[in-house]
Amino acid sequence: MEWEQICWVGEYVTLNVGAVLAAQGTVAKKEDPVCDEALSCQNNLSKDRSICLGYYGIYYIRYYKNKGPDGEKAWPKKYPFCGGVFQSPIDFHKDILQYDSNLLPLEFIGYNVPSTDHFTLTNNGHSVKMYLSPTMAIRNLPFEYAASQLHLHWGNRNKSEGSEHTIGGKHFAAELHIVHYNSEKYPDVTAAMDKADGLAVLAVLLEIGPFNPSYEKIFRHFRNVKYKDQNVQVPGFNVGELLPERLDEFYRYEGSLTTPPCYPSVLWTVFRHPVRISQEQASSRRAHSDLADVS
Ligand SMILES: [Zn+2]
Repeated sequence: MEWEQICWVGEYVTLNVGAVLAAQGTVAKKEDPVCDEALSCQNNLSKDRSICLGYYGIYYIRYYKNKGPDGEKAWPKKYPFCGGVFQSPIDFHKDILQYDSNLLPLEFIGYNVPSTDHFTLTNNGHSVKMYLSPTMAIRNLPFEYAASQLHLHWGNRNKSEGSEHTIGGKHFAAELHIVHYNSEKYPDVTAAMDKADGLAVLAVLLEIGPFNPSYEKIFRHFRNVKYKDQNVQVPGFNVGELLPERLDEFYRYEGSLTTPPCYPSVLWTVFRHPVRISQEQASSRRAHSDLADVS
């Protein structure tokens, strides 16, 4: 498959902790100087597309157009929301961050799941997800959001740093996403995922440090879901152990699913403090990183 690099340049307006409120722009030609700037930005986040918020209100997205057989269906034509105003992930840096004293720490309901209950860890051919019970929920957002699933984004053999969000241009080893849907307005995650107020995702940045026994409660089952359609039951545990100790410092913004169809439906909470896992845990998990992800 062959990819052609093109980029999008626009202007944005921000308010409240980096939320991109409005942006408009055009696809620039590869030769344009502004494109060079976009391409040189350190925020090379995924194999298909990257985004960075530049200085002076300039908003860059670069993405790769598939020149292969599916070229006509390349982003963003196929997925009109990809490369749009609310595209995630983003880089958190001082120029776009604003302190908002109205934001409250999240409240976690039902996160401590007894070991007599189970989560299903499944490989659908695209990603490994662990399904969560909707009895788990988060509060202190505009709505109550019930848990749907969690998954991780890893680096690959070419790039060991696999986080989607970055802080001041810095990548982290991996990133955990815990996906929730607006259970006050929608019956399930499918109904919610394309609605503007549909999803709330918690993101935890992972960096290399000591062995992490809490994450191992998921990782040790990964070898049993190496192949498509494999499932394994994971005994219940306190999912709150996967979060950083400090829950009162986070970045909040309105964004999107990070992969197609890129619906601009996600209220993101990215915790400021990373959680550590060991190099061995990261390396062995990276072996499964060819699996793409949803959200
Ligand atoms: Zn994700």
